[in-house]
Amino acid sequence: MTSNSPARIKGVGAAVPSLRVTGADIGAAWGRSGRDQVAVCAPDEDTLTLAWAASTAALAAAGIEGESVDAIFWGTSRPPFAEGPNLAFLAATLGLSSEVGGALLAGSAHSGMEALLAGSDAIAAGSARVALVVASDALRPGLGTGFEARCGAGAAAVVLAGAGVATIGTRVTNTRPLVDRYRGDGEIDNRDLYDARLFREEIFLPSVEAVTSALADETVRAWSLPDPDGRLGAVVAKKVGSAGAASAPVFKAIGDTGAASALLGAVGAMDTPGAVAIVGTGGGRTTGVIVNVEEPVPGAVVAQAVFDDGRPATYAAMLRSRGQLVPGGETIPMGVPPESALFARGADEMLGLLGGRCVDCGTISTPPSIHPTCINCGGPKLEPVALARGGTVHTYVINHTMPAPFVAPLPIAVLDMEDGARLMLQVIGDGTDVSIGANVKLVLRKYAHERGVPVYGFKAQPVRAGAR
Ligand SMILES: [Zn+2]
Repeated sequence: MTSNSPARIKGVGAAVPSLRVTGADIGAAWGRSGRDQVAVCAPDEDTLTLAWAASTAALAAAGIEGESVDAIFWGTSRPPFAEGPNLAFLAATLGLSSEVGGALLAGSAHSGMEALLAGSDAIAAGSARVALVVASDALRPGLGTGFEARCGAGAAAVVLAGAGVATIGTRVTNTRPLVDRYRGDGEIDNRDLYDARLFREEIFLPSVEAVTSALADETVRAWSLPDPDGRLGAVVAKKVGSAGAASAPVFKAIGDTGAASALLGAVGAMDTPGAVAIVGTGGGRTTGVIVNVEEPVPGAVVAQAVFDDGRPATYAAMLRSRGQLVPGGETIPMGVPPESALFARGADEMLGLLGGRCVDCGTISTPPSIHPTCINCGGPKLEPVALARGGTVHTYVINHTMPAPFVAPLPIAVLDMEDGARLMLQVIGDGTDVSIGANVKLVLRKYAHERGVPVYGFKAQPVRAGAR
């Protein structure tokens, strides 16, 4: 396949959720041994917040503002709404234009590769000048399955344009109507591979080899290869003549991240010139893409560092976070229907974190839906502006008793933002690292999830001195 204007990469980003659970802990719950570890979402993280974090990092690395993105392509096996405004929510949180194009690709772990190809095609066809591609997943595996000890979470994002330091090159796809890990309609947890040997010999290896052999003409410097069970990745790496896949340490650090795994295993390798082969599989499809890196891709070095982050968590904490272990007793339901006027009118300012700037005196009032006039001069004309994402703690409180589904301790802070706006937001963590005057940055998190509706907004994250 040739193209007059192949898509080129301007920047990449990666994100991994907060918690790490060891394979040994997961195995011990079922009387088995285990190894390595998996990355798991805290209760306020999910596939969308991970997609936001990776996209934000990629846009910053590429030096691209959200308004300049013409199309967003999001690949995730399981978006937060089974049906609903998934892509619109992600676009709003990233500050993308209301005219942004693109597509949500979903339904299998192959969807990350589909997003990459769709974004590349949009650039090559000229329908988008700048395309944001993001692949993310945070699946919920069945209890006690082998997949439970492998199932990680994460996201990777790529900014594509007509100019950049790496080119999307050769691609090949193999399609066969075979079932691997899947989730039936109405089911909540992903099912594991049924027959490991049958999967290996008649599904996985033939499909992946059909793709890797078609890429054999290329001189590949680094491979990102699928590794569904912790062993097959090394088998494939040996077959392609590689001492070890670039993706191997990523799988070891965070597990199998589903739709995100192929891109996540590749972004760190884009820090060095040469061809990077990205191979992703799932849902009966396997795709390989060659990325020809000419110069180190902005963001690639930072993307490598995210795999080292995270804090240890127990098996029980993982189950609570995934909603597989739920306390008895009363919970406090959200008193407001998600389709109601409050959410309809507040969605843009909450997801996009907007304030109202007075055209007369420049003061920013927040939240704008509660302040129809300027809090400083009383002026009636306020224009929506995206608020600064950095600031300092003006004052704070730590709630030590919270009704379910909220979890104590819950710090809440009043913040003075860099643009002069004042905000009150929840703070990530237990509050021990919060102090008056401390620097914070704002990150997207999930506040609640009720009636099948995720409620997203920004939280303050204390910034350690010297942190990036
Ligand atoms: Zn004013």
